[in-house]
Amino acid sequence: MDDKRCLCLRKDDGRLDVYYDYRAISKVLNKDTLRKRAPGLWKYKELLPVNDEKKIVTLGEGGTPLLRSKRLAEKWGAKNLYLKDETRSPTGSFKDRAMTVGVSKALEFGIKTAATASSGNAAAALAAYSARGGLDCYAFVLDIAPMEKIAQLLLLGAKVLAVKGIEKGEDPTVKMLRMVVEKYGWYPCPSFGPFNPYQVEGPKTISYEIIEQMNWAVPDWVLLSTGASCLLAGIWKGFRDFQALGLIDRIPKLAAVQSDGNAPLVRAYQEKKGPFEIKAWEHPNTVAGGLSDPFPWDGDIGLRAIRESGGTAISVPDKDILEVQSALASHEGIFGEPSGVTSLAGFKRLLEMGVIKRDDAVVVPITGTGLKDPGTVLKMFRGAPQIEADMNEFESAIAEYYNLSIT
Ligand SMILES: *Cc1c(COP(=O)(O)O)cnc(C)c1O
Repeated sequence: MDDKRCLCLRKDDGRLDVYYDYRAISKVLNKDTLRKRAPGLWKYKELLPVNDEKKIVTLGEGGTPLLRSKRLAEKWGAKNLYLKDETRSPTGSFKDRAMTVGVSKALEFGIKTAATASSGNAAAALAAYSARGGLDCYAFVLDIAPMEKIAQLLLLGAKVLAVKGIEKGEDPTVKMLRMVVEKYGWYPCPSFGPFNPYQVEGPKTISYEIIEQMNWAVPDWVLLSTGASCLLAGIWKGFRDFQALGLIDRIPKLAAVQSDGNAPLVRAYQEKKGPFEIKAWEHPNTVAGGLSDPFPWDGDIGLRAIRESGGTAISVPDKDILEVQSALASHEGIFGEPSGVTSLAGFKRLLEMGVIKRDDAVVVPITGTGLKDPGTVLKMFRGAPQIEADMNEFESAIAEYYNLSIT
């Protein structure tokens, strides 16, 4: 397998990227062979940067369902909306795709200790794969991370540190990561590219799955919740891989969606900035905690992905994110976290603006589960009324609390 891939320094911008020998791979991977393999991220192993299959650390990630939206699409007047449900990833977010690759690669290198900087989900994913692979894991998370995310990390055996200072506009977890990597030589494994070039590789498998699940049709749009922009960069690379293999003939328009409270990539796009002119957001403040990277580390590729695919970038208010979180749950049965549904709030907005047409085939990944952040949800409700097991109490509670009368 060694001959099929290499890690090269890209000439144009000095970024490390994994390059593949598509001619060699296309002899093995075609529609037929792909159809015969069981679903899951590692079915695309020829397009992933791990050479020694025995080193692969997996929790059964990938192969998430692509669900056609019925009730929500109807409510909003869209005809071809598909939801890629990443909430059911092993640790509850798509970050598992990045970390199965990152940790497998670490084992291949013979590494013992990994460290990450994260708002919570990437750390949980790294902690889980580290546990399974037998690595020590240090997790620097934001002090605003919900308790549930910290609980998950602690139980997974990570050494967790909640770092203060996100409001200052420089990510304090990244600052810590850089210092420990420099001092102790640990393996940096945050969910973005510049510190670990393998991180874009896992998320790109979402694109492969979308194409296969749409029976080799290419959607018109794919919308991504965007923080560091590694997901956007990965999605773009995934489609380009399949195009290079001759499996598809075009690439969907890609849209980045951020919150109004932290939108450095959207601002750079709207101000027509170059890939290396992106400025950090001054004071991130959003309910979409998983997207609160003040600086989009993979934004240089993100901007190229948006422009070269003919897509767009948009930010939405927190209010819309919460409304869409609730609409998604009550109309489609999917409990996403605010960061996980920001993409969908962007879809609603772009549909209303007419940028996305009603007939367009649109795929929106729901990137993370709401189960890790129930606090945000409970703020929207007054809790549940308590009753005795009694029909009168039931009927008056339904009337008072839910404004319904059952006849
Ligand atoms: C990390 C994350 C994102 C954004 O991915 P980036 O690569 O940082 O842009 C979106 N949704 C969820 C749930 C996340 O955890």
